[in-house]
Amino acid sequence: MRPFKYTRAVDAVGAARAIASNPQAKFLAGGTNILDLMKEDVERPTELVDLTRLKLADIKAAGGGVSIGALAKNTDTANHPLIRKNYPLLTQAIVAGASGQLRNMATNGGNLMQRTRCQYFYDTATPCNKREPGTGCGALEGLNRIHAIFGWSDKCVATYPGDMANALYALDAVVRVRGANGRERTIPVTEFHRLPGDTPERDNNLAHGELITAIELPKSNFAKNSYYLKVRDRASYAFALVAVAAALELDGNTIRNARVVLGGVAHKPWRSREAEAVLAGKPASEASFRRAADAALADAKPLAHNAYKVELAKRAIVRALLRASALA
Ligand SMILES: Cc1cc2nc3c(=O)[nH]c(=O)nc-3n(C[C@H](O)[C@H](O)[C@H](O)COP(=O)(O)OP(=O)(O)OC[C@H]3O[C@@H](n4cnc5c(N)ncnc54)[C@H](O)[C@@H]3O)c2cc1C
Ligand code: SF4
Repeated sequence: MRPFKYTRAVDAVGAARAIASNPQAKFLAGGTNILDLMKEDVERPTELVDLTRLKLADIKAAGGGVSIGALAKNTDTANHPLIRKNYPLLTQAIVAGASGQLRNMATNGGNLMQRTRCQYFYDTATPCNKREPGTGCGALEGLNRIHAIFGWSDKCVATYPGDMANALYALDAVVRVRGANGRERTIPVTEFHRLPGDTPERDNNLAHGELITAIELPKSNFAKNSYYLKVRDRASYAFALVAVAAALELDGNTIRNARVVLGGVAHKPWRSREAEAVLAGKPASEASFRRAADAALADAKPLAHNAYKVELAKRAIVRALLRASALA
């Protein structure tokens, strides 16, 4: 591991300022991703600004919904009574990720910011435009079984690996951030992550030095009928090949409103507005869910080794919607 300066932040603006004054500095939260990347020599910050003393771990009712601190641990978030009762989809998604020990360390801000699990990104002996812009993409013509089927570019075909964000997309969450100038802004979570385009080195739309302070969830009508399904190579401790965050608002058996968000298929959680449009106003039935799944995958563009994800995603969508509607 390369030497780096350690700075302990005492407040949010101070943390943002410390990062903004050093282009090579990074925040340190639970450390479960950034420290691994430093040990692998993938990330080389010259300074880590430790956030763990900041008072940003509250989870509280706010404006009819809930505000979740960026420094709240994944475990505490998943187990919080307000989340379990009003946003069970979020609890399920968090618990589907990593392991108990990791969730005890991992924070919500760090979870949103976690980097891809593309093997070439981690292997510094191979080209990777995300790790070293301009060197090429090892996965494009390489082993791309776990890679994207939507929204990729010839510069990068990686997927965003997280689970929590898939649920946050379905729940219309908003990310609150604070910059070095002390100003706050909010970003709808659906606009937080980016597609790779020509700049795959940028995972999201945060400016350097901007600190995530909270994730805000509006009041939700999805609590009764939602389900998070994660399909992976192993039953635990593995990232999603395909995940589905499914949520329905039912009026009797009629779907008033739906959310279908896919994980493991693109550089960001992939909200399928096509599937949601197919479901709106239709009866909750396997036939409706199959039509929605077909619509969701109609524009998929698989790579050489991941065409299996198209059928897998269709089946996962149907299964998740059946579970969400309590038909299975
Ligand atoms: C073996 C293993 C398996 C895993 N499996 C899964 C899985 O199945 N599903 C899943 O979703 N995740 C999985 N994870 C990832 C894990 O959830 C993340 O590593 C964790 O959520 C990151 O949170 P952290 O607080 O440790 O972040 P850190 O490692 O401290 O930071 C990660 C990044 O976020 C930045 N950052 C942290 N906090 C903030 C903030 N408040 N504002 C701005 N930037 C910030 C840091 O600068 C850094 O770039 C796995 C991890 C491991 C090691
Ligand atoms: S898919 Fe993206 S992260 Fe993976 S090798 Fe290509 S550029 Fe790097």
